[in-house]
Amino acid sequence: MILDSHRLTPPAPGTARELHSLHFGPTGAGRKAMIQASLHADEVPALLVAHHLRSRLAELEGQGLLRGEVVLVPVANPIGLSQRLLQAHHGRFDLASGENFNRHYADVVPRACELVAPRFGRDADANVALVREALRRACAELPAETELQSLRRVLLGLAIDADVVLDLHCDNEAVLHLYTATELWPEVEALARLLGAEVSLLADQSGDEPFDEACSTVWSRLAAQLSQCLGHAVRLPPACIAVTVELRGESDVRHDLAAADAEALIEYLAGRGFVGRPPAPLPALKRGPTPLAGSMPVVAPHGGVLVYLRELGATVRHGEHIADLVDPLGGSVTQLASPVDGVLYARERQRFATAGARIAKVAGREPTRSGKLLSA
Ligand SMILES: [Zn+2]
Repeated sequence: MILDSHRLTPPAPGTARELHSLHFGPTGAGRKAMIQASLHADEVPALLVAHHLRSRLAELEGQGLLRGEVVLVPVANPIGLSQRLLQAHHGRFDLASGENFNRHYADVVPRACELVAPRFGRDADANVALVREALRRACAELPAETELQSLRRVLLGLAIDADVVLDLHCDNEAVLHLYTATELWPEVEALARLLGAEVSLLADQSGDEPFDEACSTVWSRLAAQLSQCLGHAVRLPPACIAVTVELRGESDVRHDLAAADAEALIEYLAGRGFVGRPPAPLPALKRGPTPLAGSMPVVAPHGGVLVYLRELGATVRHGEHIADLVDPLGGSVTQLASPVDGVLYARERQRFATAGARIAKVAGREPTRSGKLLSA
């Protein structure tokens, strides 16, 4: 294992942070995976999965069984990990700018297109190598004026040339679920089976450039731009499988869960040729994928005490009563209903809701939303 340290832009004299990446297995073997934990720094289950992954990867490396490079970033957001305000941890948004740590990853397509166009040829493998080299260079040239920009540049630089990118997160309270690009589902289904994902949410473009899409959709977007630039249709394979894995809820921090999740990730890598042994048989898929545009929020119409009546993972019907919202001052109880037929896969952790708050999410089968599909 090689430990690499990446210095972030110091926000002020006398203070500086580093991001650390752990590199397992051979480089240059034609396979690379990048796994990062807790880009939203207060989503702690991922940190524990990274801990279990680290020892499993070290074990496989010690046995000479790794057939590709696996980059593990066990603490993907040292800025957010240290953000405490009035005794509460704030790891989703950068306190300095207000920006979500998992949005606004740079579009490196225009620069990569400039670099690739003059050398693009007929050999498909050579073109993939050419694109990866251009993507690395385009990332290295990104600005890093602020500490946040420098964090994004380092993370994107570690992932942009990988075949597999797994971004480990969690929700407030939730069953295990995944987000990925629609075209990647055939490659991601095995991961959903191995992790026992109860919901898999697919989108071509979720909006605001989250990390996984910055890594995966770059291939189709670059193909489109090259076609325009070269004046003929250019094909590129979807050469990066990137997935956001939601490891249940914030409080689901248990060794048994984390060890099983880490093992599932290793099995997924084994199925993609990263481990020199045959992969284990795949378990059954719990539920088929649904469009992210069909995931509907349940909204609180007024402030009140939230009392859930249905458990996470429940199949619910449109109009079904899933929670009560109690106004202790006025004495009223409002019944909150599911906006759609689907799976109740995530709930708000706090039990007091303010007016307009999104208190739960139900994954429906039909796409009904458009525009920006992710929550703030
Ligand atoms: Zn997250």
